[in-house]
Amino acid sequence: MKTSSLCQDFGFENQECWKTEISNGSVVFNIQTKSEKLQCGQCHSYSVEKLWYDERLLSSLSLGFKPVSLKIRVQTIECKTCKKTSQERISFASERSEAFFLAKT
Ligand SMILES: [Zn+2]
Repeated sequence: MKTSSLCQDFGFENQECWKTEISNGSVVFNIQTKSEKLQCGQCHSYSVEKLWYDERLLSSLSLGFKPVSLKIRVQTIECKTCKKTSQERISFASERSEAFFLAKT
C-alpha cells in the first residue's frame, strides 16, 4: 500500500502520511504537516521550530469498503521571527473538514 499516493488522494497538499496502521478493523493514516509547510500563525513566517505535538483522531470516513481514520499530529511550534509559541492550524480539521469529509464518503 503506497501511503504517499493515498495521502494525495485525500487532497492533503501540506501533509505527509508517515505511517499506516490497522486498528479495530479500521485503516488509520498517521499524518502530519510537512516540516517545510509549518507556518507561524501570528506572523506567517516559515522560520519555525517544532516543540511538541498532540494527536487528534478523526474517524468515520471510508475508503471503498474499509473504514478509515486519520490520526493527526497537531504540532506546537516556536516562531524564530516573532518568538511566539503557537499550535499549527490544520485547515482540513477545522471549518472545512465537515464539507470535505461529506464529499469524500
Ligand atoms: Zn511568527
